Amino acid sequence: MTDPGLGERLAAVRAGIEDAARVAGRNPADLTTIVVTKFHPASLIRELAGFGVRDIGENRHQEAQAKASELADLDLTWHFVGQLQGKKARQVRAYAQVIHSIDRPSLVQALGSDESSVDCFVQVNLTDQEGRGGVDLPGLEPLVEEVVATAGLRLLGVMAVAPLDEEPRRAFARLRAASDRVRALAPDATSISAGMSHDYAAAIAEGATHLRIGTAITGNRPTPG
Ligand SMILES: *Cc1c(COP(=O)(O)O)cnc(C)c1O
Repeated sequence: MTDPGLGERLAAVRAGIEDAARVAGRNPADLTTIVVTKFHPASLIRELAGFGVRDIGENRHQEAQAKASELADLDLTWHFVGQLQGKKARQVRAYAQVIHSIDRPSLVQALGSDESSVDCFVQVNLTDQEGRGGVDLPGLEPLVEEVVATAGLRLLGVMAVAPLDEEPRRAFARLRAASDRVRALAPDATSISAGMSHDYAAAIAEGATHLRIGTAITGNRPTPG
């Protein structure tokens, strides 16, 4: 089942990203676009790879694991962007090269390893509600210190999802401030994972380095199975 619109949507988003980078005075080469393919079949990821996509994002462990195994012949980088259960942490580590959603100390412990290293982001909650995924801002430094002190984790930076009820650029400005705080503790953690289909331009304006884009490229998601 090939989708004739896929290449066009991908090209349109790539052009949109270049435009937003230019407006922000940034080099598009400094941006990594992760295509979020949750709920879509592995065949769609194979098509994306044919268009030169290398970074794939997934948010559910079992689905991601199955796709990564089916597509092991492709040289893809798998980004885990969803909420992560501690008891699944080691399994996710086995196929994901980047984990975007570290949000609590118990997860740091579960992901640590003396044998291998995984790239990761600390997820920040930009809403004022608890339980939305992400550490709240007062908890940021303690969590970062824990990540930095744990073997097997290489901290790339901060990640967030913009709240629905706020102008995204304002929210991403708070994320940028959080990034500055993190860099004071971990100078190499300069990356910012932010920006989805509807707000990537705002994220680029506020310094995002890793964009996580789904529907604008893939089309609407099939209903979750
Ligand atoms: C699904 C998802 C995205 C992509 O969302 P779109 O609106 O489809 O672009 C980005 N980040 C996370 C954490 C997601 O779960």
